[in-house]
Amino acid sequence: MRALTVAPNTANSARIEDIPEPPRSDGSVLVRMLALGVCGTDREIVSGKYGWAPPGEKRLVIGHESLGHVQEAPADAGVKVGDLVVGIVRRPDPVPCSCCAVGEWDMCRNGRYTERGIKERNGYGADFFRVEPEFLIKLDSSLGAEGVLLEPTSVVAKAWDHTERIGRRSRAWAPHTLLVTGAGPIGLLAALIGAQRGLDVHVVDHHDSLEKRRIVHDIGGKFHLGSLSDLDDFRPDILMECTGAPAVVCDVLGRTASGGVVCLVGVSAPGYCCDIDIGAVNRTMVLDNDTVFGSVNANRKHYEDAVDTLRRADRSWLARLITRRVPVEQWTLALDQHPDDIKVVVDFS
Ligand code: BGC
Repeated sequence: MRALTVAPNTANSARIEDIPEPPRSDGSVLVRMLALGVCGTDREIVSGKYGWAPPGEKRLVIGHESLGHVQEAPADAGVKVGDLVVGIVRRPDPVPCSCCAVGEWDMCRNGRYTERGIKERNGYGADFFRVEPEFLIKLDSSLGAEGVLLEPTSVVAKAWDHTERIGRRSRAWAPHTLLVTGAGPIGLLAALIGAQRGLDVHVVDHHDSLEKRRIVHDIGGKFHLGSLSDLDDFRPDILMECTGAPAVVCDVLGRTASGGVVCLVGVSAPGYCCDIDIGAVNRTMVLDNDTVFGSVNANRKHYEDAVDTLRRADRSWLARLITRRVPVEQWTLALDQHPDDIKVVVDFS
């Protein structure tokens, strides 16, 4: 079968390879791939800056944003042939740590978790993959091709879950405003959940795009072109940082209303030092009871929350987030970043 592979730590090693069908040890359910979403993590892996091959191997099958049809499943798997499914990315560490032991692998404490297509486990970027039934999510077939958005939505669903849990440290917490930095797929999905919560949604991005403006507008939000400093005194109750751009990360500190929550969802590369008045930031954050926290990955509950988010969303709105489809044979083109790209998908169908 065809597989998209890379040699982690080696820049530009991406290729398409013919490899044997997935081993049974990957799980009892066989899935035929339909579409694979590509994100910044995949670009980092392909550039040689992130990613780990399975132990003892040199190459990694890349891909963690899956969508496929069940091809073969045992009777007790909870899914049947033809079901539309998505594989969960992370697996608990082998110890397991206290979090992994209770199914919260997204909170792994010892860093020995593995991730399909990212860390020490082959991913979903192949004509077929196998997966354990407990790491498979079934989607309503009416969701169709937009189901490929489930994995990024699960990451955002976790960010929301934790934001709201932090917010509830005050019994009176009732947020009204949300500011999202970055109108990429993660930012727009974060905005979608904010809109579904009935918040006044604002999205800021330094790149202008008529389509992104419309996408934000169509969920009742407001698109702002520029940076946080262009938003004057606007101080949201919740700020979701979805760019991972170091300069933006500096800007979000202490930028919320009193008692506000800043959630860092975007991952940045090390090696950027910025000049900030940390005394002022600290004073604001302490006197205002502000919070800044990071959020990564998602556990099964967050995938289920994400299923609910996508089910409640307008399907044509979701479809507009998928701006480019690339055939498998040309999959590396999916890694290029075009100015108006939102989610780019490798088409296996
Ligand atoms: C994936 C997460 C993963 C993270 C770090 C993200 O792109 O969506 O599932 O935990 O990268 O590897």
